[in-house]
Amino acid sequence: MSFDSLGLAEPLLKAIAEKGYDTPSPIQAKAIPAIINGGDVMAAAQTGTGKTAGFTLPLLQCLMKGDIAKANKVRALVLTPTRELAAQVGDSVALYGKYLPLRSAVVFGGVKINPQMMKLRSGVDVLVATPGRLLDLYNQNAVKFDQLEVLVLDEADRMLDMGFIHDIRKIIKVLPRQRQNLLFSATFSDDIRQLAKGLVNKPVEISVSPRNTTAKTVKQWIHPVDKKQKSALLCYLIHKHKWEQVLVFSRTKHGANKLTRQLEADGITAVAIHGNKSQGARTRALAEFKAGEVRVLVATDIAARGLDIDQLPQVVNFDLPNVAEDYVHRIGRTGRAGASGQAISLVSADEFKELSGIERLIKQLLTRKLIEEFDPIHQLPESRLDHRPIKPKKPKKPRVEHKDGQRSGESARGHKPASKNKRHRSRQHNSKLGTATQRGRNNSSRRGSDTK
Ligand code: AMP
Repeated sequence: MSFDSLGLAEPLLKAIAEKGYDTPSPIQAKAIPAIINGGDVMAAAQTGTGKTAGFTLPLLQCLMKGDIAKANKVRALVLTPTRELAAQVGDSVALYGKYLPLRSAVVFGGVKINPQMMKLRSGVDVLVATPGRLLDLYNQNAVKFDQLEVLVLDEADRMLDMGFIHDIRKIIKVLPRQRQNLLFSATFSDDIRQLAKGLVNKPVEISVSPRNTTAKTVKQWIHPVDKKQKSALLCYLIHKHKWEQVLVFSRTKHGANKLTRQLEADGITAVAIHGNKSQGARTRALAEFKAGEVRVLVATDIAARGLDIDQLPQVVNFDLPNVAEDYVHRIGRTGRAGASGQAISLVSADEFKELSGIERLIKQLLTRKLIEEFDPIHQLPESRLDHRPIKPKKPKKPRVEHKDGQRSGESARGHKPASKNKRHRSRQHNSKLGTATQRGRNNSSRRGSDTK
């Protein structure tokens, strides 16, 4: 099948050809005609399946018809859970839409709000946004939705995991009722179906990868190792296999920083990316890694979510994630869009519980490979596959942290809770909708945590 047969217009086909894609991925083959058709769509697809082009291309096609956006108005809104994903989706919109006279913008927290307001002033056809900053902009009348035609929720499952459900509901409330809704999610969990109930209308359901399966093109195994030996083992593996581009997952921000220092001390260029890094530092780190200037990108789960790095050959779990689903997301960074990849986990005896949880989720035992020099003193117990079905997760209480920087300009200024008076003023000022200021306040007590 070719892109020509999907009903896409010439300017889009030209941009696709320039990007070098010749065959639509399975999600694209299903989603593109369904979206062009104009109905609501619910698609279960993980990152790496080509889902971004799967909604961006038909979205642009739909926007070719109709009036261009008027001052401060938006015709299509794409909501994403993290800044990085917003930036990547924004890049895709710009890339696929390069031969169309459409305007787009990306807005997220952690950076100045004024340039974003300026950008919105003349109206944009596609706005890609994280929920918190979008609410700030809406409260300041910088964005209006009465011309909105399409709403896209990208990585909706992650948005729920990150506690954005209330923000999403607030946003939906202020959108025109007559619109097309596209919901993309790695899984169709019960929570997602609940969200979908109030959002999509007789949707076409598309699914390209069964729930919680890991991409077939990814080879996965574990190296049992003592905790103290993990960094030495990682250096050994990088040198031995001459890995030039490795994404390493660390459970904590502190761990990510420490590991980066250890790698650098061993002559391996490395950079960390996590929620405590400024937006500029995160963007720079990603650019350096993509350009091949640094060999190792050490990331926490939230920071890495949605990172689009073409054909990443190597992913290493330095620590296993606490939440088994994150394993599936992590290794989704490799073997993308048909390319093969390797996902290797360094597992110490104290991580046996996490390992068992992952094996139960992915319904397979992970192969163990011992490396003689790193044979652990503390033995990892033998795994046995637990076939009991996994109970659906309880919905989490909303938690709006600053992991993706979706805070208002005010709370972004420093990590100090606002003074009482200031808080009072902010509440009055932002009385239209719940605000990031409020969220920042709720979370000021949680900032000491060292996760993600
Ligand atoms: P996504 O799932 O949207 O994050 O896309 C994963 C990767 O696949 C990105 O690097 C895209 O550039 C790439 N990609 C998307 N569609 C295609 C296609 N039809 N052929 C080859 N690569 C693609």
